[in-house]
Amino acid sequence: MQRIYLDNNATTPVLPEVFEAMRPYFGEQFGNASSIHHHGQQTRAAVEDARESVAALLGCHASEIIFTSGGTEADNLAVAGLVETGDHVITSSIEHHAVLHAVLHAVLHACKHLEEIGGEVTVLPVDGRGLVDPDDVRRALRPNTKLISVMMANNETGVLQPLEEIGRIADEAGVCFHTDAVQAAAKIPIDVTRIGCHALSISGHKIHAPQGVGALYVGKGTQIQPLFYGGRHERSRRAGTENVPGIVGLGKAAQLAKEGLDRGDDKMMAAMRDRLQQGILAQVEEAGVNGAGAERVPNTTNIHFDHIDGEALVIALDLKGLAVSTGAACSSGAIEPSHVLVAMGLRADQARASIRFSLGKQTTAEDIDLALALVPDTVARLRELSPMYKRTALSS
Ligand code: PLP
Repeated sequence: MQRIYLDNNATTPVLPEVFEAMRPYFGEQFGNASSIHHHGQQTRAAVEDARESVAALLGCHASEIIFTSGGTEADNLAVAGLVETGDHVITSSIEHHAVLHAVLHAVLHACKHLEEIGGEVTVLPVDGRGLVDPDDVRRALRPNTKLISVMMANNETGVLQPLEEIGRIADEAGVCFHTDAVQAAAKIPIDVTRIGCHALSISGHKIHAPQGVGALYVGKGTQIQPLFYGGRHERSRRAGTENVPGIVGLGKAAQLAKEGLDRGDDKMMAAMRDRLQQGILAQVEEAGVNGAGAERVPNTTNIHFDHIDGEALVIALDLKGLAVSTGAACSSGAIEPSHVLVAMGLRADQARASIRFSLGKQTTAEDIDLALALVPDTVARLRELSPMYKRTALSS
């Protein structure tokens, strides 16, 4: 059976060039990047080259890049490293849990009683397209607001937030601005100066580098407290011996991503995504795009197929060789509807009936053809089995 992978927002395959760039650092180039001898100098040079490549992708200086173990650590470092007891934080209801939980943890420390949390954090709503209103950010500002953390692209819908406007508001108010760009990096051009952010997170495994490596941009002049204590690695901002092969992989992936964006690969990706989306909507009734009407990253489409269970669709498609995903998280045995889709105003049953398709650099036109051949049929078959759909069809 031919397998098609359209779940690149979950993780991407490591590109062959990235793997080749990493290979020596599992073998002959094994030095600790902090050692002053030949072996250490070689790996130090590789780490610094990778830092330059990541900085070039984000439009910043290499000294502003801190390597981490991934997007989760980068988000946690930004939030915990910038927020102190008594600070107020503004964030959004559609953030990844890495940000939401880090914010709650940071403010929990400051609250003696649970009821006080509302006084320390403002969680902004989004509209039906999944967008934060910059005016809401402005209205939420308080004298003790320390941090605004709003993601660049949502992992479930791909919707892009109006970050430049939020950056201007943060700047006027003298407040730190962090953005989780894990799902935006390598998919759209990023320039930290244009955004006006003080901190920005990325993750290796979303850009065809390996899992377990990431980076946080922290602008020059922004003081950040470390999460870990130990050696003086990463200019005393992230203790711990560097993951040299991972960092080299991240650097290579960043370099390839920048070359791809300069070539306009993002436009080709958007064309493939649009063909998939339009092809599905043309063949499946009672379906719609979540986040339609908003600007989105070029690789993602999230579609609700009413009257079916998204989890059942994922399993049925997987049996036919197509890997996609739901936004639903399974907690304590119950399938919770996605907090992102619910925040956008979808009914719980529509949120549960939603599927995310996310393309990667390896996705081909043939993959899209095969997906288009599989999805409508599979939805139709599941609807035939659905008492919910039969009731609606009979009553109309
Ligand atoms: N932020 C977003 C938006 C994500 O999609 C993810 C991963 O899914 C993360 C953060 C966490 O990144 P990592 O898996 O590298 O810890």
